[in-house]
Amino acid sequence: MKDLLSVEEAQELILQSVQPLPESVEMPLLEAAGRALAEDIVSPVPIPPFDNAAVDGYAVIAEDTAGASAQSPARLRVVGAVNAGEVAHFAVGRGEAAHVMTGAPVPAGADAMVMIEDTEQRGEEVWIKSPARIGQHIRRQGEAVARGETVLRKGQSLGAGEILVLAAIGRGTAPVVRPARVCLLTTGDELVEPGYPLPAGKIYNSNRYGLSVQIRETGAQLEHLHIPDDPVATRDALTQAQAYDMVLTAGGVSVGERDFVKQAVESLGELRFWRVAIKPGKPIAFGRVGQALFVGLPGNPVSAMVTFELFARPALRKMMGHHVLFRPRVQAILEHDIGTIGGRREYMRGRLRWSEGGWLVRSTGAQESGMVASMVGANALIVAPARSELRRGDTVDVLMIDLPLGSE
Ligand code: AMP
Ligand code: MG
Repeated sequence: MKDLLSVEEAQELILQSVQPLPESVEMPLLEAAGRALAEDIVSPVPIPPFDNAAVDGYAVIAEDTAGASAQSPARLRVVGAVNAGEVAHFAVGRGEAAHVMTGAPVPAGADAMVMIEDTEQRGEEVWIKSPARIGQHIRRQGEAVARGETVLRKGQSLGAGEILVLAAIGRGTAPVVRPARVCLLTTGDELVEPGYPLPAGKIYNSNRYGLSVQIRETGAQLEHLHIPDDPVATRDALTQAQAYDMVLTAGGVSVGERDFVKQAVESLGELRFWRVAIKPGKPIAFGRVGQALFVGLPGNPVSAMVTFELFARPALRKMMGHHVLFRPRVQAILEHDIGTIGGRREYMRGRLRWSEGGWLVRSTGAQESGMVASMVGANALIVAPARSELRRGDTVDVLMIDLPLGSE
């Protein structure tokens, strides 16, 4: 194996060993949001389910209104009214009209709707002041979706629009790929849970929280265990974690003599250990414990967040049946100088915004791997090519890791 992999090579190697989970679950629509469909969805009903009025007004027979104008209106007898949610129990015949509200069924016999603005109610009559075309202002049964039409395909990610369509065809639930079960293992004797006082020499376990949010955003189910720097505890925790779909560790996989994750993974499964040509992100470890996919992220919080984005998130999305695995990428104009990039491609936390017809991006601050403050407000990763020289006004590739801001 090559000593130093590119990001793309490492991503490909990981994705090659991931298969979509075969099981699906039927979830209530709001729980299904954000997940991938496990089957094609066929509509059992036409949409709209019946011919209905697109405007408030009068249902007429178009021929009865030929030549109508304000000066010589067509005078029609009003034979009834239909409100939204009602059924018309009468038909419209020659010389007749019915008052119909938007969305209400158009009575049999009528073949056009005339807007209320083009009419005048005169006692038992309505005066129509402009001629109607056959079919005007009527939404036909099945014109949006035909009965039996495939409205969504397997693998489609369910956003607001897709959930709306499922609701519109009457589905209360959707078949989605089951959530992946992830076991997050943080490691280190130096770590203390936030919310407690900080003893000398200790730091707070921030990865647990940052990574948990990142994992949950993929739709995966999450358990967390913390492992002290101890070979037996590490092996025990990894043995337990084998029951999950993915084991994600943070820290403990460097070359330090108190890094026990490597040897535990090797004894329970298989470990591939790579150096990937990026900054931040020390070696990233990858392999298997039992049947679970193993991804070992660096302990450093900034590196953990970035490597999760680049390597673990696409794997989880593939597991959960999504077709789109990676973040959207756009080109943006740099708002300030960055300077010279070293021999490894850098991923910098940045803030992307749309301004005057183009994308602009700026770094969120010092990028060294300990600088957690630059996580704040980051909605993008600026991709800085190795050995480049980046100046204000240059065009750079940017990964959108969150919704961009509007124009500020
Ligand atoms: P390690 O790879 O275990 O040597 O960790 C690298 C660096 O990341 C060390 O400075 C650790 O203290 C820090 N670190 C490891 N895990 C965490 C965590 N869960 N939260 C915050 N910092 C961590
Ligand atoms: Mg450690």
